[in-house]
Amino acid sequence: PLSGAPLLEVQGLGIRFGGLHAVRDVTAQLQPGRITAIIGPNGAGKSTFFNLISGFYKPTSGRIIFRGEDITPLRTHLVVGRGIARTFQTTTIYQELSVLDNAMIGHRVRTRAGLLDALLRTGRERHDESESRAGAMRALERVGLAGQAALPAGALNQEGKKRVGIAMALASDPHLLLLDEPAAGMNPEETENLMGLIRQLVSGGLSIALVEHKMNLVMGLADDILVLHHGQKIAQGTPAQITRDPAVVEAYLGS
Ligand code: ADP
Ligand code: MG
Repeated sequence: PLSGAPLLEVQGLGIRFGGLHAVRDVTAQLQPGRITAIIGPNGAGKSTFFNLISGFYKPTSGRIIFRGEDITPLRTHLVVGRGIARTFQTTTIYQELSVLDNAMIGHRVRTRAGLLDALLRTGRERHDESESRAGAMRALERVGLAGQAALPAGALNQEGKKRVGIAMALASDPHLLLLDEPAAGMNPEETENLMGLIRQLVSGGLSIALVEHKMNLVMGLADDILVLHHGQKIAQGTPAQITRDPAVVEAYLGS
């Protein structure tokens, strides 16, 4: 994209589930090289917003523009191929598989038709195998798990499992990484380590958007904060701007 162009832009984005408008008319931009936090009370539409951006849900209104391209109609694996990867609110790793195999699944998702193919290892076996392995190892190095590659993922502690989940997403070599509540279930020390990892990834050129409840993490980490309430965007700005925004204070006190 041209310099100064947003990495991601959503225009009038919305989705309804029956009578419920889970995300409603959200227009926002995410800038490259930044950490953007999406916050808001429970049920505000944060996870749904991520599901829309990553193609898991199709919007009932609006558009999603990524690096200048309208990606609104694309299926999830094509969205991954364009450079958007995500982790899930509940960690979805394969406990019995090795740390490396988990990361390799993340790598195959980019090059194959989808997760099922990734798991079944269909298609051009040999070449893909070594390429996936190399891509997966690079991802493990980025999260500090290269030394644990051969261990079963289930043998790692909570923080290690979170890192595996992040490595699976990184293995697709994204431009934008979406993290849904990455610090959930983490103690303060683990949370601090996670913040260090996120900063490190961003200084390496990655852009990150995260949903997080832990306000110390959000305020200490985010360059930009987008606030959702009842599916609508009620504010966007720096941590300093957001903390003194009356609409934000009201949304949190009223919930
Ligand atoms: P948050 O992540 O901010 O806590 P969510 O995005 O998970 O909120 O949910 C926003 C609203 O949309 C909630 O009322 C939730 O129950 C509803 N919702 C989310 N996904 C679905 C779905 N697939 N079907 C029906 N309702 C949904
Ligand atoms: Mg959520």
